[in-house]
Amino acid sequence: MSGTQIWAQGNSEKVSYKDANFPIEKRINDLVSQMTLKEKVMQLNQFLLGKNNNPNNMGGKVKRVPAEIGSLIYTGIDPVFRNAVQRKAMEESRLGIPIIFGYDVIHGLKTVYSIPLAQACSWNTELTKSASAMAAKESKLSGIDWTFSPMVDVARDPRWGRVAEGYGEDPYTNAQFAIAAVKGYQGDQFGGEFKIAACLKHFVGYGASEGGRDYVYTEISKQTLWDTYLPSFEAGIDAGAATVMSAFNDISGVPASSNHYTMTKILKEKWQHDGFIVSDWGAVQQLVAQGVAEDKKEAVAKAFNAGLEMDMADKVYKSYLEELVNEGKVSLGNVDEAVKRVLRVKFKLGLFDHPYVPELTDNERYLLPEYLKIGEQIAEESIVLLKNENNTLPLAKSKKVAVIGPLAKDTENLLGCWAGQGEVKDVAASIYSALEKEFKTNQLSYAKGCDFDGDDIGGFAEASNIAQDADVILLCLGEKARWTGESSSRSTLSLPEIQEQLLFELKKLGKPIVLVLSNGRPLELNRIEPLCDAIVEMWQPGVAGGNPVARVLSGRVNPSGKLAMTFPYSTGQIPIYYNMRQSARPRFGKYQDIQTTPLYEFTYGLSYTTFEYGELKASVTQVKRGDKLSIQIPVTNTGKREGMETVHWFISDPASSISRPLKELKYFEKKNIKAGETTVFSFDVDLERDFGFVDDKGDRFMESGIYNILVKDKNITIELVD
Ligand code: BGC
Repeated sequence: MSGTQIWAQGNSEKVSYKDANFPIEKRINDLVSQMTLKEKVMQLNQFLLGKNNNPNNMGGKVKRVPAEIGSLIYTGIDPVFRNAVQRKAMEESRLGIPIIFGYDVIHGLKTVYSIPLAQACSWNTELTKSASAMAAKESKLSGIDWTFSPMVDVARDPRWGRVAEGYGEDPYTNAQFAIAAVKGYQGDQFGGEFKIAACLKHFVGYGASEGGRDYVYTEISKQTLWDTYLPSFEAGIDAGAATVMSAFNDISGVPASSNHYTMTKILKEKWQHDGFIVSDWGAVQQLVAQGVAEDKKEAVAKAFNAGLEMDMADKVYKSYLEELVNEGKVSLGNVDEAVKRVLRVKFKLGLFDHPYVPELTDNERYLLPEYLKIGEQIAEESIVLLKNENNTLPLAKSKKVAVIGPLAKDTENLLGCWAGQGEVKDVAASIYSALEKEFKTNQLSYAKGCDFDGDDIGGFAEASNIAQDADVILLCLGEKARWTGESSSRSTLSLPEIQEQLLFELKKLGKPIVLVLSNGRPLELNRIEPLCDAIVEMWQPGVAGGNPVARVLSGRVNPSGKLAMTFPYSTGQIPIYYNMRQSARPRFGKYQDIQTTPLYEFTYGLSYTTFEYGELKASVTQVKRGDKLSIQIPVTNTGKREGMETVHWFISDPASSISRPLKELKYFEKKNIKAGETTVFSFDVDLERDFGFVDDKGDRFMESGIYNILVKDKNITIELVD
């Protein structure tokens, strides 16, 4: 019998894992049956190799790669290097198993797109799907097969820096964007040319980090786990996500990375996921720090036995797994099962049959015009107009504009938190240079005013001077890119004092102030909001830079973004999110010293036109299980210009066996409406999906009774009878 072939049991079919004509499962079985324990363990490791930043040293780097390794992280973005490493795996390992190359392509690779939180504010999942597909192509052509994205952690504490990486506070929104991103990266069916594997992260509950502090404990009841933190993952799995990343947090005492309930019971058994779980960076050995393992070896046993297949960067699976099998603390059957999961993803990705990637020039693979165009569109649709008193915006072409602030000529910080390929900052236009394209240059003047933080007020005088001569002040404030993202929690959401002071100073001039904000999280704006005539939230738009916001300011583009995350009135109001559970004395759930409501609610956002919502109509108002129900609402553009409107459909269930949220988003849709025209939006309710809910075991059920369907301030009541 040859080294790569066996006789399949029970029939005479000669299966070879190398032969693409056989079904994947048969190829996997054939391969695993030939692997030694050592080879199997190697498939369960992801090593850090480091970037190939010295082309002369390429050979040396390749030499250091064990040919049998399952995966590598951060090998850089050079396809030539990747192919050299891959060739070693294919030709020098006994069985020729390809390596899967992983990288954090979170909001684009070279073509950096808007941060995910901004993408959610566009309410246009198609754009996220397209951007993810383009990011996949750019990545594959850089030698990357697997991205650690999307992050679908529901996040309700904006002090947590990682809110920038996800899709906001709502489970349904996260689920819809999870589907879009997964399908963009992987294709509608997993696999195909220029497709890469997605990774849903961080499983699970990481967004509930206590106090918004990164990496800490989370307290999550089973009920909340099921109705809040799991749905976005379930949606991503249903969309075909090949892999999942475990989280750093522990869930009410049991770390997510050694959690048998979430990783095995839910993901593998209940949801039937057939891909694999990779640990977060070092999350296996961190089980020691988390206080559930005495040493690294015990950590490995706990993580692996709980269902975690691949160890990221730690090398602890490599060090201890074989020993644990030999000691009977880990079963060989489970190792085989884990290896099959890893191989399944590699086979589905086509790595066995096409292990190498084309070696194109930078110009052929990066920053292509269609990639940049999608980036501009996302950034444009994610811009949220928060305030516009007396139609201050758009800025008339006759006005002289003083452009002030640390962000006005910045590009780097517009890229957002995962813009690893730094040199693209030269592609992005600053707000100021974008304004120069929209307005006549002699309309504009510029002063920096101050830095992002610190206490140097030396630039205030110049800022006031140029503002004196202008009709309107355009103040560009916000966060540096690094103030959000991993390990970037903040105790307050306020802008640094120096930035607020600059605004107070300019306010003394009595001129209209337009505030442009670029940031990666909701901010506390209560001190400065009253001083501004208009406020535009542009988020961190990536390589689109200042172009989209300049088009909004000039009025060429009508803003259509709406918030996917609540802006609290003040930091002390956190947690505050739209779908809190109903409370005993709603009128008393407030602080004495501040308003009860947030500054800007979930789904808030203005337009340059106005939309009027008509009467909500239901096809029937009494339903039985299995019935069809369709609700419609006409929306009229009552203003003078065309605009896009997103209608958000919520339900509320005022009386059920558990206290449910005040309202829950169930559907959204964005449409363009011409001035004076009326468009009907409709929502086909799936009773089980939209009225039903899960219990603390994840079982879905639906209770008869009254349900409200809510759109803006409209409400229609539906009765579900037995
Ligand atoms: C982060 C992940 C990321 C991984 C690899 C971790 O520290 O939590 O989100 O994918 O590193 O870079």
